[in-house]
Amino acid sequence: MSLFLGKMCQHIPGHKAETEHEKVLEIMPAKEVYIPLVAGNNTDFEVLVHEGDQVFVGTKLAQTKSGFVVPIYSSVSGVFTGIAKRMHSSLRPQPHMVIQVDHKQTAIQAFAPIRYENASREELVEFTKNAGLVGLGGAGFPTYVKYLKPNGIDTVLINGVECEPYITADYKMMMDDPKHLVTGALIMKKMAEAQRVIICIKKTHPDLISVVKQAAENTGVEVREVPDVYPMGWERVLVREVLHKEYGNLPAEAGCIVNNAGTAIELARMMEHGEAIANKIVTVSGAGVKDPMNVSVPVGMPVKEIFEHTGFKLDSVRLIAGGPMMGKAIPNDMFVIDRAMNALTILDNPADNAIACLRCGSCSDHCPAGLQPVRIAMAMKEGNIEEMERRQAMSCIECGLCTYVCPSKIDVTENVRKAKRALALQKKK
Ligand code: SF4
Ligand code: SF4
Repeated sequence: MSLFLGKMCQHIPGHKAETEHEKVLEIMPAKEVYIPLVAGNNTDFEVLVHEGDQVFVGTKLAQTKSGFVVPIYSSVSGVFTGIAKRMHSSLRPQPHMVIQVDHKQTAIQAFAPIRYENASREELVEFTKNAGLVGLGGAGFPTYVKYLKPNGIDTVLINGVECEPYITADYKMMMDDPKHLVTGALIMKKMAEAQRVIICIKKTHPDLISVVKQAAENTGVEVREVPDVYPMGWERVLVREVLHKEYGNLPAEAGCIVNNAGTAIELARMMEHGEAIANKIVTVSGAGVKDPMNVSVPVGMPVKEIFEHTGFKLDSVRLIAGGPMMGKAIPNDMFVIDRAMNALTILDNPADNAIACLRCGSCSDHCPAGLQPVRIAMAMKEGNIEEMERRQAMSCIECGLCTYVCPSKIDVTENVRKAKRALALQKKK
């Protein structure tokens, strides 16, 4: 029985059928990829190649100079032509490495493969660090950091929930490669020195559950069905649902580590083949897309070129990097696919239909973080920093539910995001 199926966690239409059983279309850029020199908020990178250098799929291009170690490998073969500032999906102009593609996709082994069964925990964590693996569910946080000091970790949860509407990229990856999903789960269990690893999948995917259960037979990896409600994929909700535990800041406080299913699959592939992440599966969907589909594209692919294949069917659209609930609305299509991006969602423009707030309280009733989004949005509009802080704007997980339930079609989430940005700016000062 679920512990968290009240009003704050609700079923919303999935729209998954539009893409989940269609073939993944492979697309290459016509001329160039633009690989972002971005790791979370960090853009402090040492570039390891020179202008004019030939690079291959797997060439190490750059590495962070400060903060967490994040190397970046090339997703294409071609010639490195320099660094350009371009709009990034974080809504800031950021440096990107420009590589002119030669369309040969010549690959080199980025690093030596490793057999996880024979390696020590420390060797596996070191491998994960040098391979540049980051969370592929949207967060982009370096994976190795979670496993550096896993004191008291009992369970690893592999998050295959993919609770946002429209997105089926993880579903496709898990269906196509359940073997590496299970191997990745076992590697993470070993890195965490945990007793259990559980792959969590929504119960509305019996086909996937059966495929993964078969792959997990006799491995000790458990498969758990979870309810089809939103935001079931949020770590806090998943931990509460599966382990019946609460925590303050990090899942480690509840004795667990949560990793996305796609991340587990990539980790197993990297260890087996010595290859860094080159391609991403991205779901392009939403009411504004003519041909919804999953595409496989190299990291750094301009989204503009993806839309040439999918088309638009509305005149006024809202372009979102990510899913409709947690993604970021982007004013134009001049950004690229980065390693953590798994969806592009195109919706009709809500600003076209928004009316004044009705004070209905629905956004507060549904907020899974227990906030009053309408109050935070009002404080933001008044520039009242104290009130934004008092209303705990920073606790917002940007799940998008307040916008989804708003009968006035106000983009409440965006207003709360602005409040978070104002608070972060204030803190810096
Ligand atoms: S986006 Fe933030 S404020 Fe809105 S419902 Fe989700 S957690 Fe609450
Ligand atoms: S749901 Fe929309 S209309 Fe209702 S209180 Fe929140 S912002 Fe106002």
